[in-house]
Amino acid sequence: MQEKIISQERIVTTTSQNEEKEDLTIRPSSLDEFIGQTSLKESLKIFIEASKTRGEPLDHLLFSGPPGLGKTTLANIISHEMGSSIKSTSGPVLERPGDLAAMLTALKKGDVLFIDEIHRLNHIIEEILYPAMEDFKIDIMIGEGPGARSIKLNLEHFTLIGATTKVGLLGSPFRDRFGMISRLNLYNVNELIKVVTRSASILGIPITQDGSMEIAKRSRGTPRIANRLLRRVRDFAIVRAKGEITQEVADNALTMLGIDKLGLDDLDRRILSVIAEDFSGGPVGVKTIAISVGEETRTIEEVYEPYLIQIGFIKRTPHGRETTFAAKRHIAR
Ligand code: ADP
Repeated sequence: MQEKIISQERIVTTTSQNEEKEDLTIRPSSLDEFIGQTSLKESLKIFIEASKTRGEPLDHLLFSGPPGLGKTTLANIISHEMGSSIKSTSGPVLERPGDLAAMLTALKKGDVLFIDEIHRLNHIIEEILYPAMEDFKIDIMIGEGPGARSIKLNLEHFTLIGATTKVGLLGSPFRDRFGMISRLNLYNVNELIKVVTRSASILGIPITQDGSMEIAKRSRGTPRIANRLLRRVRDFAIVRAKGEITQEVADNALTMLGIDKLGLDDLDRRILSVIAEDFSGGPVGVKTIAISVGEETRTIEEVYEPYLIQIGFIKRTPHGRETTFAAKRHIAR
């Protein structure tokens, strides 16, 4: 969680406590307010309706996709629509079996346990989760050495919602225990215009339609980035343009922040130029790229690469990453 936030921060500088509060106000709280991902929303509506009709808790769900696309938001919406409570944690934080047991035993029937970055759970925790998900039972060892003992606990029928940026890292026994696995896709510009317009209206920021479009076009298909850019452009508009965000104001502000017409920042451009120039267009391994730009491999793969692939700038081949002609033309400008 922390890492993904840090890497996205680079795109649009830092988030203040005030902005975290704003995040909560603009986060959609129902499926109807949730923009885009139409077929996923339809499936969820049916899934929720059916389980309510049967009077049973929802089956376990897994959401995958790059950071900032709405996985956490959907988990919260689902628990809200089911009328249950949600407890949230994340793969790297959940280290000890005792921590997991404490969370699981506190859940009431129908409650949601949300685990972000579920692909980063350690194996011991993962194995405790299997019977918990399937039979609503856990069997954990307390203590160490000769004094260690195993205790069995019955759990209420809860719903596990997992979120992952790398579904491929989840073994098939784990994946098979989810009743529904859905991938969230990057958003198109029209959807992001709606995200920007909606957030601006909730936050009381004056913005024109082409101002929203300029921010949307430069948000890398990601609502979280759209909201961050909106705030940065708002600051600029207050200081330089009497508060209103027009296309020109948005363009000037984003250019000043080093975000180009396609939403690429300095690190994106460095990644492209490492492949295109230092390695003559590739193929080059992602680890080598990460070392060359001084960033973690995971961040390149999970935060930067999906968008560069989506816009046709990078190709993934069995031998590594390659840049396309379009990418070379873009960085040559
Ligand atoms: P993830 O868990 O996938 O990293 P989040 O659920 O934390 O992403 O979403 C990041 C932010 O983007 C949220 O605070 C929310 O305001 C906004 N957001 C995400 N998806 C949508 C959407 N479909 N419609 C409107 N806003 C969204």
